[in-house]
Amino acid sequence: MRPVFPEDSMAFRTLACSLALLAVSLTAQAQFPEPSKAVQEFIRVRAPRIVLTHVRVIDGTGGPAQEDRNVVIEGAKIAAIEPGADVAATDGTAVFDLHGYSLMPGIVGMHNHLFYIARPNLNSDHKYEEPLLVPQMTFSAPRLYLAGGVTTMRTTGSVETYADLNLKHDIDAGNLPGPHIDVTGPYLEGSQSYFIQMPHLNRPEDARQLVEYWADRGVTSFKAYMNITRAELKAAIDTAHKRGIKVTGHLCSVTYKEAAELGIDDLEHGFFVNTELDSDKKPDVCSESEGDETLARMNPDGAEAKELIATLVSHHVAITSTLPVFEEDAGGGRPAVRQQVLEAMSPEAREDFFLFRERSQPAPAPKIDPALLWRHDLGLEREFAAAGGLLLSGPDPTGAGDVLPGFGDQRGIELLVEAGFSPVEAIRIATLNGAIYLGREKEIGSVAVGKNADLIVIKGNPSKQISDIENVEIVFKDGIGYDSQKLLNSVKGRYGQY
Ligand SMILES: [Zn+2]
Repeated sequence: MRPVFPEDSMAFRTLACSLALLAVSLTAQAQFPEPSKAVQEFIRVRAPRIVLTHVRVIDGTGGPAQEDRNVVIEGAKIAAIEPGADVAATDGTAVFDLHGYSLMPGIVGMHNHLFYIARPNLNSDHKYEEPLLVPQMTFSAPRLYLAGGVTTMRTTGSVETYADLNLKHDIDAGNLPGPHIDVTGPYLEGSQSYFIQMPHLNRPEDARQLVEYWADRGVTSFKAYMNITRAELKAAIDTAHKRGIKVTGHLCSVTYKEAAELGIDDLEHGFFVNTELDSDKKPDVCSESEGDETLARMNPDGAEAKELIATLVSHHVAITSTLPVFEEDAGGGRPAVRQQVLEAMSPEAREDFFLFRERSQPAPAPKIDPALLWRHDLGLEREFAAAGGLLLSGPDPTGAGDVLPGFGDQRGIELLVEAGFSPVEAIRIATLNGAIYLGREKEIGSVAVGKNADLIVIKGNPSKQISDIENVEIVFKDGIGYDSQKLLNSVKGRYGQY
């Protein structure tokens, strides 16, 4: 393991003792509770005042990186952003020399599940036994997200909703490590589903009751799923909106245009799951290709695309890009899975991932070329953003098994650059845009004075070379700096297990 910081951060280390004492006085002024011992284990720096000197700031607005800045954190907030200068560490002030490092806002992950997809008795023919299950990753996922730089996330569909709500509570109370969480309610699914753990709606009244029940218990978003009817979706949206809660959807039975007109706030999976041009599409029923036909037929600069994008933009519908989960379809030239990703997987998860990957090479040719779908989706996401649409980002773990929390969030940003966004634009999509969607852009999403100190310290320069975004070293959440590597070490071999 490489040393984490250059030698000249020695100033900080010599202060470690006095800082521990100062932590006591800090709690008096802090608006956040004292971290538990379990959380303290992962804290790299906590002080009344922290100065990050000589750092490159990528502020999350999409503007150019600012070289050589000093960023001052006081308590949980960003107190100042100044020209770079040497600063002496004093009692109560921790100083980092960050020559060669970049600072960006914490990632706002918008499709960040807290579960794993388990395929029981998966074999080398790619077959598994029913039922498909999604075990909770309540231990490993929050640590992986935080380690990867995610400081705020939406679960985008819950299975053990009480566990997710309690997790959010325990993280906010300082008892467990993890990001801030927008807990999404149980999936709003129609009368049938692939997933045995989802509730089933049989009428609009079921949708209304589900939304009311979970909103009463603290759920802050909802997600509609593939077999919901338009009437059920409308009931869910209207009930949620009355309570100021937003609804997203991974749809199939309802087209993007229909959902936009019903008032949905967000659509998941870029343009991969719009079914409006699928030849067998019937109202309220999912089509066989689940949107592949539509995407293949929808040229990003064609008239149908323009009309769809205009409809989405005029109805203020956001789109969540989840490119990592589709990347296996993108064709050759893909980078190998990261060693750290393999290390985070449980032995069983790793075995399943390799079984999947082996099979994906010689599989029979699909009816629709996946590489065409990939190209069309990238183009449509770009056109949507260019037309003023709010594009969000999230990894959708776990797909075939190698899209992991945190790592997947970083990969999503890299793939947005592949889609044609500049690195700073891609970073904005994964930070400020998410904050805007959540209505929290006054507090989070960019590096600005007065905002929460939710920040990532990265070795290198992702504004020039986006793959540097993988080099996260410290993640600040509410002004407390967490050690990324320590968080990763604590979940080695666990993802897929718990
Ligand atoms: Zn998902």
